[in-house]
Amino acid sequence: MLPDSPIEDHRRFGRRDFLKRSAAAAVAFSTGFPPQPPTIDASRVNAILARFRRFGGTGDGGTTRLAYSDEDLAGRDYATGVMRRAGLEVSTDLAGNLIGRRPGTDPAALPIIIGSHMDSVPGGGSYDGQVGSAAAFEVALTLADHDIALRHPLEVIIFQNEEGGKTGSRALVGRVYAFELDIVTASGHPIRDGIARLGGDPARLAEARREPGSMAGFLELHIEQGALLEAGGTQIGVVEGIVGIRRWNVTVRGAQNHAGTTPMPLRRDALVAAADFVRAANEVATTMPGRQVATVGRIEAIPGAPNVVPGEVRATLEIRDLEMTGIDRVFTGIAARARTIEADREVAITLAQFYESLAAPTDPRFRNIVEAAAAGLGYSHTRMPSGAGHDAQSMAELGPVGMIFVPSRAGISHSPDEYTAPEDVARGANVLLRSLVALDGR
Ligand SMILES: [Zn+2]
Repeated sequence: MLPDSPIEDHRRFGRRDFLKRSAAAAVAFSTGFPPQPPTIDASRVNAILARFRRFGGTGDGGTTRLAYSDEDLAGRDYATGVMRRAGLEVSTDLAGNLIGRRPGTDPAALPIIIGSHMDSVPGGGSYDGQVGSAAAFEVALTLADHDIALRHPLEVIIFQNEEGGKTGSRALVGRVYAFELDIVTASGHPIRDGIARLGGDPARLAEARREPGSMAGFLELHIEQGALLEAGGTQIGVVEGIVGIRRWNVTVRGAQNHAGTTPMPLRRDALVAAADFVRAANEVATTMPGRQVATVGRIEAIPGAPNVVPGEVRATLEIRDLEMTGIDRVFTGIAARARTIEADREVAITLAQFYESLAAPTDPRFRNIVEAAAAGLGYSHTRMPSGAGHDAQSMAELGPVGMIFVPSRAGISHSPDEYTAPEDVARGANVLLRSLVALDGR
């Protein structure tokens, strides 16, 4: 009979490799070097990743696996099978997160959690979230292949609806609010119905919350979604944290007037002042030391007619940095420039904050562990912030977190052109495994 997946094939090969590797480990031990965990099966983790495409693959290399869609449900069924093959006990929590558990040898030890998400944006790629999910499964399979016992219990979590606002991970920290349940997601299902579709219970969502301090740590592997690793020819990113975000509504008020009869010196053109502001925001963020970014991403001139000097402009300002104090510094600089523009152009500029997402630094000890794991495997590595949000951001409220990045070709993400090479997927999974084992033995 044919095996129903490449997993079973690889599992048999895995046993054979184990004998070779045990011998190698014994040699290493006798020479005084601590034995390292075995490496993951590169072809198996990439086979799992490729298999995900059966559930929402769009044929152009991309994937549409919207949270709560039929494709999402089918993908989770497949994931359940893989986790069971790794010996995990699989369940769905009240929030609809898919969880595989493996007991530890120390009954008093808190769980170590690894995982990511499997849902995609509409017309998304086949790597965002999925690399981290496949790697978490591969780590569990490798532990099972080699009968490696961990002191801590292990949980593999596939967080639900990451792309629609990190619903699953936010539920674990009690940050999903009642009004959100009625939000209709890209799949057409309101979040409330979606949670029920996944096997959760929206009426008991609050009970999905976990206590701060209830885990030993969380590790997530993810594609970079930027081009820094590729540009530097670097194999592993040691993530320093997920940047914080603040957004402001910017209103510039001048004087609306006739575009033909108002001489240039008499104008109080709100759009010209706004243009100064856009440039100022860019200059402040560029010239200050640090890796902060500032963006004016939306702008609207009012009334917005070819023959009217704009009397008002509505725009947005967004600033991101690894530290909220960095955001404050940039904002103070931009606000000072706004005061100058007001005087120069005879306009009034107001900046009203409407959104905040707190920065989530990774644990310094976890950075060291990830770095040592990469170095021990002979991979090049660099420390870097994450400019995008991740489930690890929520998990940071429960305990220390670490994140590992692997390169994204040309930095492209949320697109069918998103791509991470199989060797990079394997390297990331190896760093995840080695970091987990190091964390367990700490
Ligand atoms: Zn993601």
